[in-house]
Amino acid sequence: MKALVKSRAERGLWLEEVPEPEIGINDVKIRVLKTGICGTDLHIYEWDAWASKTIPIGLTIGHEFVGEVVEFGSNVPDLHVGQIVSGEGHVVCGRCRNCLAGRRHLCAFTAGVGVSRNGCFAEYVVLPMSNIWQHAHGIPLDIASIFDPFGNAVHTALAFPVLGEDVLVTGAGPIGIMAAAVARHAGARHVVISDPNEYRRNLAEKVGVTRAINPITTTLKSTEKDLNMHEGFDVGLEMSGNPQAFRDMIAHMSHGAKIAMLGIPADPIAIDWNQVIFNQLTLRGIYGREMYETWYKMTVMLESGLDISGVITHRLNWRDYEEGFAAMRSGNSGKVILDWAD
Ligand code: NAD
Ligand code: ZN
Repeated sequence: MKALVKSRAERGLWLEEVPEPEIGINDVKIRVLKTGICGTDLHIYEWDAWASKTIPIGLTIGHEFVGEVVEFGSNVPDLHVGQIVSGEGHVVCGRCRNCLAGRRHLCAFTAGVGVSRNGCFAEYVVLPMSNIWQHAHGIPLDIASIFDPFGNAVHTALAFPVLGEDVLVTGAGPIGIMAAAVARHAGARHVVISDPNEYRRNLAEKVGVTRAINPITTTLKSTEKDLNMHEGFDVGLEMSGNPQAFRDMIAHMSHGAKIAMLGIPADPIAIDWNQVIFNQLTLRGIYGREMYETWYKMTVMLESGLDISGVITHRLNWRDYEEGFAAMRSGNSGKVILDWAD
């Protein structure tokens, strides 16, 4: 089958012919229909320091997908051929303390689809049945293909109650924009998003925020004044990994505010801890998605009117993957979807 493979220890990604994956008794084989390109895939393409120490050569990459079930093992009780599914990209051990307690998103021995085991940028992908999410009828395939990053957004946006609260999102990448839309849908009053990238601020405005500000030219203080806010933001969603964005956020939260952090900083960040202590802030790191409460919430929010379709800016055939990666690299993109159906 055709697959996009990290076959050399250098910048790039190569289209190769690889053997079709085989299934065990607990596995599901899926024909891939659409995939999303993640920032992680771009790191692997670019072969940065993280990628070169993490990714085994010869790996088929990719972890955001939707597809149809073509085959399953003898232990799999409830799937049928042709069923539309996505996959949770964290394959957990099932045996550690957190897994046994049902907190699988906290597993300490996670394997990553398209990171440490073969991924979905291919005609077929195989996953354990416990990693399969069966889509509800009526979820568009484009949206189903980005349930993984949508799940990051939902996991972060719903980490703390947002009903009636003022929410600050730093970073209008695809995940920040989706998180802003989720906070709105979940009843936040003002949702302010910041990003120096104009293309992405425009995209955020299209998907729906109170203000999309350029942090270089507009201060949070003036934005608060403009919105008649007096005591700062109640909930922060850090979606940039940028040190200055994080410091700015901490300085503009209300007393007792809560910050959920998804963005991954490249290096350690120094902050003014006095602001955390005297303002009694709560900081919480967020990783992946809750299995499978986040997936359930994503489905139900879409069914109750949440529209994230505006975050998808590029739809390309898989053969044009170089164009898709270039769009990601430029920053002038939201989600980039590759179609594998033909
Ligand atoms: P992205 O890189 O597309 O978006 C980050 C955005 O932050 C960019 O648009 C950039 O312009 C913006 N930014 C840079 N400096 C800024 C500043 N000073 N103020 C405000 N914004 C600024 O990333 P994404 O795909 O949307 O993902 C968001 C973050 O979440 C990334 O850091 C990613 O690595 C991380 N992530 C974490 C997990 C997890 O499980 N914790 C999962 C997926 C992604
Ligand atoms: Zn575990």
